[in-house]
Amino acid sequence: MQSSQKYQAVIGLEVHAQLSTKSKLFCGDSTVFGAEPNTQVSAVSLAQPGTLPVMNEEVIALAVKLGLALNCEIVRDNYFARKNYFYPDLPKGYQVSQHTAPICIGGKVPVITADGIASEVLLNRIHMEEDAGKSIHDLADDYTCIDLNRAGMPLLEIVTEPCIYSAEEAFAYVTSLRKTLRWLGVCDGNMEEGSMRCDANISVRPAGDTSLYTRVEVKNLNSIRNVKRAIDLEIERLIKLTESGEIIKQETRSYDADANTTFALRSKEEADDYRYFPEPDLPPFNITDEYLEGIRKEMPVLPGVLKEDFISRFGLTEYDANQLTSDKVEADYFNALLSHTTAYKPAANWMTGPVKNYCNEQNISINDFPLSIDQLAALIDYTNTGEVNFNVASTRLLQALIQDTSVSPQQAAKQLNLLQENDTDALGKWIEEAIAALPEKVKEYRSGKKGLIGLFAGEVKKRSNGKADMQLVTQLLKEKLDN
Ligand code: ADP
Ligand code: MG
Repeated sequence: MQSSQKYQAVIGLEVHAQLSTKSKLFCGDSTVFGAEPNTQVSAVSLAQPGTLPVMNEEVIALAVKLGLALNCEIVRDNYFARKNYFYPDLPKGYQVSQHTAPICIGGKVPVITADGIASEVLLNRIHMEEDAGKSIHDLADDYTCIDLNRAGMPLLEIVTEPCIYSAEEAFAYVTSLRKTLRWLGVCDGNMEEGSMRCDANISVRPAGDTSLYTRVEVKNLNSIRNVKRAIDLEIERLIKLTESGEIIKQETRSYDADANTTFALRSKEEADDYRYFPEPDLPPFNITDEYLEGIRKEMPVLPGVLKEDFISRFGLTEYDANQLTSDKVEADYFNALLSHTTAYKPAANWMTGPVKNYCNEQNISINDFPLSIDQLAALIDYTNTGEVNFNVASTRLLQALIQDTSVSPQQAAKQLNLLQENDTDALGKWIEEAIAALPEKVKEYRSGKKGLIGLFAGEVKKRSNGKADMQLVTQLLKEKLDN
């Protein structure tokens, strides 16, 4: 038996999501990313004596929104606690956190791996807390720089149960969670800028064993791909250690993306004593039924629900529906498009094909697509009549309309001579030419290699400058060649 089959990996993930609020958790300092160091630091962020925190209510609303979307139990009576520790980037000497009493308990995240395996990752909790500042070690030789812009930023920590069993599943979980965070407008999910951070707890145990073994925690995973790579590395490393009879130490490790390795930061043999106690400067707060109802009303239709809707109402395939609900802005655009055309399936093809490609190439949001929704719908409907074929329409006709948005698809197609050729005389001539050009292939086709039909069709398409009605061409070619 391979050693990887003798063991099962057990993984639990802690994700810190920085909330998309304008101001910090307990003061009015801006949360905009990338500002000059120490420019978003009022007396509160600096922990000047005498300053007091004031709760940013938007943070509670976002926490509840996420909790409802992930089917958590929303705790009604809440308070914050102080987690005391000393670190230079923590001016107060404590972090205000809900670690001991989270606002959301339980919940689950639907997950589909790249191989199509579906599962549900169970959540342990979601809680609110403030971020610390940033220590910058590599800016100067002899000292460490501190940037307190991040001190007091609002975070949600989303913690799973130890119920993830592979790096692929972890990858799929973070992908799914990020989609929900973005969909709800809770967090922008940008791991490179650190507005979403993930720590992975990993252990291995003999296959069939259900108890939890000693874990290591890996930090500094700044992309979803690195989450997967680091977990794979750790599983391999832990299995090797176990095989060679070593005792696994509980420790915190860091991932080095350049070298694709992990290294130990500190061992965690004793539990830290943070001397938690309720934060005396912030009143406890209660979540009422009315409040919950209000949040529910504000919530957008969730991607899973919208996807089912696209499938049942518009007959889209699972694949298309998935694609079209991966981003809220695109999903909203597609929804709007469907009230201008009834060619649902073609509209999905346009959205996931040429329209998406154009936006990617130009690096623009779908909301900045140069054709209006009306114009795009007209183009889809016009292409659907068969007067131009999809290939020509999605390249030359689309380009022409983008360049001059005042012309209609019909006018542009006529002006550019793009109308689909379905005149059998014209097609017949090209077909004759194609057959005459490939005498050997004709013999092969007639002796049974029917797949060559595509080759002949391609020849005809070339001769027609892409305008031939290919369905008709295939039919005519078969008539000619099968005789
Ligand atoms: P802490 O509060 O010290 O961060 P928790 O017990 O809350 O520790 O767990 C943190 C994360 O580690 C959770 O996601 C949990 O599922 C995961 N975890 C706990 N024990 C294990 C284990 N033995 N193997 C893998 N993951 C684990
Ligand atoms: Mg932890």
